[in-house]
Amino acid sequence: MCLIMCEQGQQIMKIYYVDKDQLYPSFGKAFWNTKIIWVRNDLSDRVKRFVLEHEKQHLKDGKMSFWWWGEIRANMCGMWKEPRGFITTVFLSLSPYRLLYYCKRIVKGE
Ligand SMILES: [Zn+2]
Repeated sequence: MCLIMCEQGQQIMKIYYVDKDQLYPSFGKAFWNTKIIWVRNDLSDRVKRFVLEHEKQHLKDGKMSFWWWGEIRANMCGMWKEPRGFITTVFLSLSPYRLLYYCKRIVKGE
C-alpha cells in the first residue's frame, strides 16, 4: 500500500497494488467516495504508472454524469503523464477479453 499526502499532511488517497483476480478484467479502479485506488500488481511498471494516473484523475473528477467523458479525461491525463504506459495499455486492451469488457460497459452505460 502507498499513501499520498498533501502539503498539510492530510491523506489524499490510498493506493493498493492488488492481485489480478481481484480486478480482472480491469487494470485499475478508483473508489472516489473513500479515495482509494486499486492497481493490478501483475502489470508492467509503465502500465501501472499509467493506470495510477488514470485512476487519480477519476478521484479528482468524482462521479460524473457521463462515464465515457470521465474515461476520456482520465486517459488524456494518463497519456500526458505516462505516454509509453498509455501506448502499452492500448495494445494490451486490444485483447479479446478487454474488448468484451468495454462492450459490456458500453451496453450497461457505466
Ligand atoms: Zn477509467
